[in-house]
Amino acid sequence: MRMPELHAARRARAQEKIAALGADAALITARANVRFLTGLVSSNAAVLVPADRPAVLATDSRYAEAARRDCPDIELVTDRFIEPALARLAAAMGLRTMAFEAQDMTVLRYEELAGLDGGPALVPAGRLVEELRTVKDAAEIELITRACAITSEALAAVLPDIRPGRTERELAVLLERAMIDLGAEALAFDTIVASGPNGAIPHHVPGSRQFEAGDLITIDCGARYAGYHADMTRTVALGEPAAWQREIYQIVAAAQQAGVVAATAGTDVSEVDSAARDLIAAAGHGDHFGHGLGHGVGLEVHEDPIVGYGRTGTLEDRVPITVEPGIYLPGKGGVRIEDTLVVHAQRAAGILTTTTKELLVL
Ligand code: ZN
Ligand code: ZN
Repeated sequence: MRMPELHAARRARAQEKIAALGADAALITARANVRFLTGLVSSNAAVLVPADRPAVLATDSRYAEAARRDCPDIELVTDRFIEPALARLAAAMGLRTMAFEAQDMTVLRYEELAGLDGGPALVPAGRLVEELRTVKDAAEIELITRACAITSEALAAVLPDIRPGRTERELAVLLERAMIDLGAEALAFDTIVASGPNGAIPHHVPGSRQFEAGDLITIDCGARYAGYHADMTRTVALGEPAAWQREIYQIVAAAQQAGVVAATAGTDVSEVDSAARDLIAAAGHGDHFGHGLGHGVGLEVHEDPIVGYGRTGTLEDRVPITVEPGIYLPGKGGVRIEDTLVVHAQRAAGILTTTTKELLVL
């Protein structure tokens, strides 16, 4: 399918959801959702999707040429103030209710739209485009696979640079450089390198701490490729690990494997979470694993479905998610192991981040 046709097919599916909502139209403003429905990559674009007529894209002059090139099948409005422009257009079309993305819309922007004279009534759209994005097509899975391959290759390339005296920040920069050199268009997120006691902080910002023999070092990184993200974490040991370090590593590795095995189509996300979490709790570390087990990956690095305790929802075929349990011991250190994988209906999940999960002792 040509890209403009693919985007048109996605808009047609969105229109069914908008009609089911009972709205005359939806104003799609979340950046990844605009990209998913139109192909346009822009920091200032919105798309008006009426339930029963063609969509209209709005962006400002900085992106108008890209919009004409990448979205030739969509009517284009060029305006600096994209949301009021589309709301006025909706009113002129006789569209009386317009669904909006509450997860993206700020109160300030909402008040401006709600205050428009003769503008459409605003109703929450829910996460209708996010729901469409959850199940990926073959081309999307290929792009995520490529992003993950770049990530694994980049980590392999910098393993020899993990040695005493090297700082967290230096390793993060080397790894980021390797991802770009291997073909990443950008980083999926700011790289995490957490060494020694910093490993107890799940999202530690890499700093000037120098690696020392006896450290566990947690590295959480990902490449972005053609808009699609990768997300991988590995924890390595610098020098022979202590017994407690091996012990928490083995628990996390077993929990991660249990989560991967549980991640099949038809399974509730809460069951996938508990498959890993119960194992960590049974080992006495329930209080040392505070975050959710994982998340969807696609045009955003964190997207639906959220795989965590207190979450519900059934996994489907062709949904990429992460499985990333950890144990964090305050003041001592931590371990996290994370893969990006694709859930399948008829077979085990396909792991896309291929770096070994054996404890690497460097
Ligand atoms: Zn991660
Ligand atoms: Zn993650």
